Amino acid sequence: NRANLATEHLPSMPRFRESEWDDNIGYFIKKKLRVWCRVPKGQWQLGHIQSTLGAKATVLLLDGTVVKVSTGELHPANPDILEGVDDLIQLSYLNEPSVLHNLQYRYSHDSIYSKAGPVLIAVNPFKAVQCYGKDFVTAYRKKLLNKPHVFAIADTAYNEMMRDEKNQSIIISGESGAGKTETAKVAMQYLAALGGGSGGVESEILQTSSVLEAFGNAKTSRNDNSSRFSRVVQLTHEERSYHIFYQLCAGAPSSLKDRLNLKTASVYNYLNQSDCLVIDDVDDARNFQMLMEAFDTVQISKEDQENAFEMLAAVLWLGNISFQVIDNENHVEVVADEGKAIETRDALAKFIYASLFDWLVEGINKLLALGKRCTGRSISILDIYGFESFKKNSFEQFCINYANERLQQHFNRHLFKLEQEEYESDGIDWTKVDFEDNQVCLDLVEKKPIGLISLLDEESNFPKATDLTFANKLKQHLNGNPCFKGERGGAFSIRHYAGEVLYGTSGFLEKNRDSLHSDTLQLLSSCSCRLPQLFASNMLNQFLKPASPFHHMGVSDSQKQSVGTKFKQLESSTPHFIRCIKPNNKQLPGMFENDLVLEQLRCCGVLEVVRISRSGYPTRVTHQEFARRYGFLLSEDHRACQDPLSISVAVLQQFDILPDMYQVGYTKLYFRTGQIAALEDTRKQV
Ligand code: ATP
Ligand code: MG
Repeated sequence: NRANLATEHLPSMPRFRESEWDDNIGYFIKKKLRVWCRVPKGQWQLGHIQSTLGAKATVLLLDGTVVKVSTGELHPANPDILEGVDDLIQLSYLNEPSVLHNLQYRYSHDSIYSKAGPVLIAVNPFKAVQCYGKDFVTAYRKKLLNKPHVFAIADTAYNEMMRDEKNQSIIISGESGAGKTETAKVAMQYLAALGGGSGGVESEILQTSSVLEAFGNAKTSRNDNSSRFSRVVQLTHEERSYHIFYQLCAGAPSSLKDRLNLKTASVYNYLNQSDCLVIDDVDDARNFQMLMEAFDTVQISKEDQENAFEMLAAVLWLGNISFQVIDNENHVEVVADEGKAIETRDALAKFIYASLFDWLVEGINKLLALGKRCTGRSISILDIYGFESFKKNSFEQFCINYANERLQQHFNRHLFKLEQEEYESDGIDWTKVDFEDNQVCLDLVEKKPIGLISLLDEESNFPKATDLTFANKLKQHLNGNPCFKGERGGAFSIRHYAGEVLYGTSGFLEKNRDSLHSDTLQLLSSCSCRLPQLFASNMLNQFLKPASPFHHMGVSDSQKQSVGTKFKQLESSTPHFIRCIKPNNKQLPGMFENDLVLEQLRCCGVLEVVRISRSGYPTRVTHQEFARRYGFLLSEDHRACQDPLSISVAVLQQFDILPDMYQVGYTKLYFRTGQIAALEDTRKQV
């Protein structure tokens, strides 16, 4: 009798949380269970612990080498049955090497999508993966496939919008080159296919991204097709301005070229300053033809197209305006004025370009809503720049990180709410699982009147203020906040959810001030063309709204709305999260760099999800699944049990699983970390 045998030979079950790992190493030695060991070069490898002495352990690695490491460098490895699970939450041990290994295992099998609870993780394949065709759309639509996928997220968003009559948002984050924009397009593809049946907007929706990319994307050192927000007037070496400028110069028909007096890209200061006019394997002239087709598909009129090209030419020629110094007695002052003139010129170029972009977006949105059956509900797709921490960080990083801090709070609260709802609906005793909110850090930035933004605004309005007076002001008012530290040399550091970041105050005030003068606006209003007039009047309307320090910020697709309004809109919608991961910096397929990935998992809060889940009951198994898998282990006297619930409860009792290690819900059993691994171990020995 297998079951009886099993009971006789049953080892005592290990019952521990990972925080108690040190006390359980003995069990891992005795049972020869695998562990992750960080070898001196910093990589994680599998091995078996042979012995321990104090805080040191001797480990036999799978390749036969023996290493001595401190026990802190060891983590329990998951049983084979959990290799490559779809959802990280299914892992019995949720430590960093296990999470990394799981993602890498899946990645090497071209499963680029995984889940971390409700969050979808997308690892950039840097190659074509066969999972986006029409068949896949249908399969997800009909729920024939339930592997993690952007399609599944988009499908859920759509269904929840219809079911709850609530706006939805798909929030995509990650660092440059991680795949946010591609992911957004995949989501659009799915949603467009859903809408395609009735109104036929599919091709229009898909072509909108061609237009938006031509005007919104540029080559950077990290991504040949990077979504950028302010780069009209200044380029770094080997980076390009927005694709559209090069496309226009290379591809415009000669009649248009003549009319706009267009030259080649190399003539323009705004384009030729970075020694980078072409991208390998990219044909700008051909892309211009494609753009014209896209323009037609999204029904931007020929007249509007011409207007847009005029504005682009105007921006390019603006950059070639230079200012002559007239030598007179007051030499110094004239030079200073010249600096201002260039600043004003550049501000005007940026303003025209940003307004043009907004105008295009607005036109496209109007078109898509027009005449279609419109429920008044929407699904927003947000492509947001991920958390940044460099050696030197400035205003731009501050803006990006603040937006991410807000997003993280939204994320935590949502996640926490979901957890709570699941527990409650399944009748689980919900005692507060501890959960670290980032409100303190947000207060530091947002609080009025003494928060970083308020202080920045106040100081920006003082004509005599300098970066140093600003730095001192921060120190004076914020030093009490545990997330803030005034540093030497006008710097300060903020403890963000993803780590501490050191900011230099240099340039903060200037970047925060609005450099667009009212006479510039007047100049635009007096133009005879339609667009400049429109841009000027839009801007004047904006001035009537309360000032925001995030005027220049690049988190939104249109740059128009401040972080505040964007988030209000977001907070009233049901969020769906996708975190994109860049597995290497070389944009190469098949290359998975552990440390790089780990850093991103930390920064984008995936490990935070894992942590939150860990503090509850991360393993969830339905009564049926549990009874099917472990029921045969029951001894004779429990055999009478028939239904899955009583079989499950009997298994739990027979194996002495401590009551605080699990809970029994209406439909599922909920386990603390490590419990399933232990049961699996028993099962394997039978
Ligand atoms: P940025 O912040 O600079 O805009 P991003 O996160 O939007 O970066 P993408 O432009 O989406 O990054 O992706 C960079 C490149 O990675 C793409 O041009 C493409 O080559 C590749 N890539 C991303 N996702 C996928 C995917 N799902 N399948 C194939 N290739 C992909
Ligand atoms: Mg992008």
